[in-house]
Amino acid sequence: MTYSFEFQASRALARCWSISLLWLAVPLLLTTPAFAFDRPLAESALIAGRTVPVLCYHRFGASGRQDAFSLAPEEFARQLAIIADEGFVPVSLTQLAAGWEQGQPLPEKPLLITVDDGYRNFNQHARPLLEARGYPAVLFIYTDFVGARLGFSRAELRELQAAGYDIGSHSASHPKLNKSLANETREARLERLHRELAGSREKLRKWSGGEVRGLAYPYGLWDQVVAEQAQAAGYHLMFTVNPGPNRTGDPKICLKRNMVLRGTRDATFRAMLREQPLVITDWTPRPGEWLTGPVSFLEAVLDPASRSRIRPETLRAQRGSRPLSVTLDARTGRLRLRFSKTGISGTHLVVITAQAREGDQIYKNSRLIMVRPDETHTGR
Ligand SMILES: [Zn+2]
Repeated sequence: MTYSFEFQASRALARCWSISLLWLAVPLLLTTPAFAFDRPLAESALIAGRTVPVLCYHRFGASGRQDAFSLAPEEFARQLAIIADEGFVPVSLTQLAAGWEQGQPLPEKPLLITVDDGYRNFNQHARPLLEARGYPAVLFIYTDFVGARLGFSRAELRELQAAGYDIGSHSASHPKLNKSLANETREARLERLHRELAGSREKLRKWSGGEVRGLAYPYGLWDQVVAEQAQAAGYHLMFTVNPGPNRTGDPKICLKRNMVLRGTRDATFRAMLREQPLVITDWTPRPGEWLTGPVSFLEAVLDPASRSRIRPETLRAQRGSRPLSVTLDARTGRLRLRFSKTGISGTHLVVITAQAREGDQIYKNSRLIMVRPDETHTGR
């Protein structure tokens, strides 16, 4: 039996996430501890059920690498205008955390703008456009990039924080946090995660002079151990790049973000802002859980409220660009997504959508599935 280690995300994601994931062949020394999903999450009645889209940008302007992650300032300006036109009010991470955790008032349609990595030409190309509209943003910085030729300096981080930008962490060295190194013991991995998560947070607090509440997992990759370490390091809100909107009450350890790529059509951007969360619970396997492959099915329950709002015959699921078969038990709401007959292994992004019963809105959910190859069957 053979396995494909090719990462089956969309082409854009594959570019971002680097295609060869040879680490999947490395046996990982992970067990499954009692996990954060079991703990009750603080949720305010004020904002219960509110939809929160989060946008993920990387670079702006003509300096630096020119690829799908580099937007022209005019393009960004048009998108900010669409955000306003759609009635969204961008909030800061501080505001969102206060609303989510302490019930502080939030706008009717909150939205979060995030910018990853820490390219300093943000100041030149994106910042004037944000400030012209009074829009806050979160800057997710990986600390090894601070002081590099194209990265923010420490002084710039301090000035940005003072100007009202949230500084969040994007790790220290931008690794695939869910990946163990070759022959790495569990203790060594935990120590490394401590440096990446607690270490980067400490530096950013010191350099910016502000609180660091948010973490954006590099490449959006995480697992249960990473999330636990992030919580222990003091992060409140952790972000992936799984597409789709968030709903207040979702686990704060794996919030969704829509990556905005160069050349996104205005109509596509507008439709993305209008997406509604397709609420899915009781996942098997749970988000962040590693399985030993090959795996043929994903199972879950479609929340009754979501079920009542969609046309069931429009339910679709995709792994990367490949459609999966979806069955919905009309009585129980049980969802079953079927992969290929032989099963899959590796790390895959699964996106599930459905059309609204009324109107043209799309309901969306997405998640990673992580399957270690079953060593006993690979013949390696
Ligand atoms: Zn990044």
